[in-house]
Amino acid sequence: MSNTIFHKIMAREIPATIELENDVLIVIRDINPQAPFHCLIIPKKTIRSIQELQSEDAHILMEMMSVAQALALKYGFDSQGYRLVMNCEEWGGQTVFQLHMHMLAGKQLSGGFA
Ligand code: 5GP
Repeated sequence: MSNTIFHKIMAREIPATIELENDVLIVIRDINPQAPFHCLIIPKKTIRSIQELQSEDAHILMEMMSVAQALALKYGFDSQGYRLVMNCEEWGGQTVFQLHMHMLAGKQLSGGFA
């Protein structure tokens, strides 16, 4: 049974600024934002990382992307753009081992990846 910080946020055991929630996922503001807009799109199903995704989870990924599109429209990032990032395991920079996608926006983001 996973009990990451994101599970505790979903269970309302610790506070977070919740941007959106539905049956599939929750979106919270990152506690340490790297851009003017920095949200974490987190599926409710316990999935450790990208490496644990299965084909039956395809709808979860689509919902994560759809929510990113909706947030971009809501906050006016749809035409200027934004960045979606998923870190995978230690070398990928993942620090919370529940699948999540970062959505960064609100400024011109740098071109570097590593
Ligand atoms: P990762 O490095 O795993 O891709 O991203 C984890 C993210 O979770 C980091 O950007 C970090 O700032 C964020 N984070 C860690 N703990 C908390 C918390 O308690 N609340 C919120 N809102 N974000 C957190």
